Amino acid sequence: MSCLLLQRSHLCSRLPKLHQVPSLLGLVHDKHVRYASGGPGDVSKMRNIGISAHIDSGKTTLTERILYYTGRIDAIHEVKGKDGVGATMDSMELEKQRGITIQSAATYTIWGDHNINIIDTPGHVDFTIEVERALRVLDGAVLVLCAVGGVQSQTMTVDRQMKRYNVPRIAFINKLDRKGSDPKRVLHQLRTKLKQNAAFIQLPIGLEANCKGLVDVVNERAIYFEGDFGTKIVYDEIPKDMRAESEDTRAELVEHLANGDDILGELFLEEKTPTTADIHAAIRRATIAQTFTPVMMGTALKNKGVQPLLDAVISYLPNPTEVDNFALQETLSGEQSRVLMNPERSANFPFVALAFKLEQGKFGQLTYLRVYQGSVKKGDTVWNTRIGKKTRLSRLVQMHSNKMEDVDEVFAGDICAVFGVDCASGDSFVLDRDLKLSMESIYVPDPVISMSIKPADKKSENNFGKAVARFTKEDPTYKVWFDNENKETIASGMGELHLEIYAQRMEREYNVKVEMGKPRVAFKETLLEPINFDYWHRKQSGGRGEYARVIGLMEPLPATENTSIDFRDETTGTNVPKNFIPGVKKGFVDSCEKGGYAGQKVTGVRMRLKDGAHHIVDSSEWAFYQAAQFAFQDCAEDGKWTILEPIMNVEINIPAEFSSFVFGMLTKRSGIVTGQDGRDDWFTVEAEVPLNNMFGFSPELRGLTQGKGEYTMEYARYSPASQETQTAILKAFREKDDDKSSKGKKKN
Ligand code: GDP
Repeated sequence: MSCLLLQRSHLCSRLPKLHQVPSLLGLVHDKHVRYASGGPGDVSKMRNIGISAHIDSGKTTLTERILYYTGRIDAIHEVKGKDGVGATMDSMELEKQRGITIQSAATYTIWGDHNINIIDTPGHVDFTIEVERALRVLDGAVLVLCAVGGVQSQTMTVDRQMKRYNVPRIAFINKLDRKGSDPKRVLHQLRTKLKQNAAFIQLPIGLEANCKGLVDVVNERAIYFEGDFGTKIVYDEIPKDMRAESEDTRAELVEHLANGDDILGELFLEEKTPTTADIHAAIRRATIAQTFTPVMMGTALKNKGVQPLLDAVISYLPNPTEVDNFALQETLSGEQSRVLMNPERSANFPFVALAFKLEQGKFGQLTYLRVYQGSVKKGDTVWNTRIGKKTRLSRLVQMHSNKMEDVDEVFAGDICAVFGVDCASGDSFVLDRDLKLSMESIYVPDPVISMSIKPADKKSENNFGKAVARFTKEDPTYKVWFDNENKETIASGMGELHLEIYAQRMEREYNVKVEMGKPRVAFKETLLEPINFDYWHRKQSGGRGEYARVIGLMEPLPATENTSIDFRDETTGTNVPKNFIPGVKKGFVDSCEKGGYAGQKVTGVRMRLKDGAHHIVDSSEWAFYQAAQFAFQDCAEDGKWTILEPIMNVEINIPAEFSSFVFGMLTKRSGIVTGQDGRDDWFTVEAEVPLNNMFGFSPELRGLTQGKGEYTMEYARYSPASQETQTAILKAFREKDDDKSSKGKKKN
């Protein structure tokens, strides 16, 4: 190196010598102070970040490097490393085996004088709820992309989720060392596929095997990563042959920033050259405003680019005060209003926290909380606002993967965990019982697939029940219920893998071997045209009678809401007394659950109750409940209905020589190709395919591509099923119905 400008000494002094480190699973240093700045901490020195990516982009490897460089772990273990230990963040057996991070683990670490909470988010699409939860509580994120794979199907899902929760992000292009790496192509995809106003703030000094370091375009210098595991940062001049490219990239950066930031935009219009400080400040403002995405790069595996990324997390991602968080407050009339949380780290404002993740550990249920306002101390009694129950917080901890450190108090902005608190994920906690505040609920996607499930032997039924209770509480997208009609227990979730993983965990963690039936798609039925109803329910056969009349309209919801239902009470006057309205609503909701037209769950429908009639003695909530159900049946018989099916986004990666097979496979499955891309010897196809047509796809793909083809699949939306599918479902439903009525007749 010709000229050594600066060395990060704080890094080197914190890191132990590698040869002295026992090769145990990530030992935790005990010498850290709780807050780098002391006391309750300076909120400007806090970051809550997530790391999200398409599977295999290197998120786990990157997280591992971050923990190493920040001194939280003593040794680096590769995800699929030879030492057999597995990365520290992968705390579950199954994850180590599969090399994917299924459950998010929260950890906090210190960089310079900043505290960083990191939520490691899972990579597999079947576990998107984990990503949703993580994003819900984060203030910023790093979006990791593979320098070869670029924007992949799950990158798009993560991007949508980040947009939904307004999470500012930095993009990190990983794997610059891989053959075929092409950061420019990835930047182009960020702009075109994700519609990001994105620009490089770094350039690679060499790619693939020649990847030597990076050019920092903002500070106009080269960065090299030397010493063991790249711990020694060396700054140098930009290599001569890259100066022109660096200047052009800086100009491009300024142009993009000008589009996302008014202050820089003005300088640009006035044709003034912004200073380095101007550019830094504009990147920070525009990133937080989500009008710009800074694009960084490196190779986590080869220890390049991670420390500058940490610097950027501090420089460009918001601290908890720079993000607006709202709680919902119930008003006297039962409506909800939004209340802005005050992020001051003190007890001056009432405590509000959200439980965003539950985990069953050795010591009972561990609940992860994000504090949004005020503070809470160990030993305090908090109220769960949903169930109105109080709990004493006997222990407060902060997490490092599956290790924990006790703390006495936590404040707004903190992420912590508590023990033995009875709650579900998404619940809110307050200190003041009368404070009817709750954080916005977490978006929970609808399950798309189900399978029958039962313990292989009777002995295990008890443990099976325990496992179900725990998994369904931890994961709202995993549902298990008893189907009374077919007398079997059904598990439903976000994909086959999702259901299989829980079956495996039952065996591993609860010693329950389970038998699963064939996967079944969760079809739904919906109304196509509005239909009026007027049902008069009268039963007067001795004793107290039943009397209820409901009049109104059943109508379809817009296609974008075709997975929800809605009930509106539009009655005026007292024909339907207000105390009977809940009966009508329940009748409607239960009917939707049962289905009418084809025996599938009804969604995308609104019931508008306009009028009705009651009897002073014979009317009851029960009578109105039944009237609503009969009215619904009438609509099911006379209305125009259709069956909906889940459509999946499928991305297939195969060696180019096999590309012709893929189109055949997709056509056979009524798939619609939405994109394709060739790269070196690989070919990528994106398509939308009905989930119902995806069974057997995996073995077929493997067979046709000599085991080399891979695919990922994620839920896109519900759409009307093909005529063929509709006919098959209706036929099966009618046969079942006929069967039931003939059995009924025999009994009579
Ligand atoms: P995740 O699924 O996103 O968590 O990805 P992992 O961290 O598990 O990495 C997937 C695979 O990519 C592993 O075999 C890693 O060793 C490898 N990997 C991670 N980062 C890099 C990198 O910078 N370069 C190369 N060549 N491989 C990498």
